[in-house]
Amino acid sequence: MYCNQCQEAARNVACTTRGVCGKRESTAVLQDALVFALRGLAYFGDQAAMLGLPVREHGLFVAQALFATITNANFDDDRFVALIREALQRRDALKREFLAAYRAHQGRDFAEALPEHATWNAAGTEAFLAKGESVSPLATADPNIRALRMLILNGLRGLSAYVDHAAILGYEDDDICRFLLHAMMAGA
Ligand code: SF4
Repeated sequence: MYCNQCQEAARNVACTTRGVCGKRESTAVLQDALVFALRGLAYFGDQAAMLGLPVREHGLFVAQALFATITNANFDDDRFVALIREALQRRDALKREFLAAYRAHQGRDFAEALPEHATWNAAGTEAFLAKGESVSPLATADPNIRALRMLILNGLRGLSAYVDHAAILGYEDDDICRFLLHAMMAGA
């Protein structure tokens, strides 16, 4: 566990055994796995948006899922397992949609090398926990790069809280959804 997303972080650095907020290690690790899965969805979401495909629903899902990872918004491990499963299902469905659209637009298959978060798949809680351990913030060795990535991710968490609240009230915005997908793809 390595969580440094709020001002309550242990020693003003990070919570590494149990959160000062009460977050358990399993919850923190599942949240890291969820962020990894969301990056895979965002990879294809960003590509799909560039082809003009509608991605609002995926952007709103990313907002809902990221909001769930904020400090003490949700400590329910089962909820995070369900969100990871949905992120993987959405990613694979969007991938098929994007690859077909790319072929139709370009007259050839998409041939870029895919990052691991665009291809990783697993089905159970244990596998999600194992992935979360391996993709924690500490997986980024350079502390400056890690700090920049966490700055972006934690900023997107805050943005997502407002996007999700607005969506519940009936206000949705394509540009914000596309930005969220692009930022998750590029920097989180
Ligand atoms: S969200 Fe909880 S676990 Fe994370 S830094 Fe804040 S107090 Fe620690």
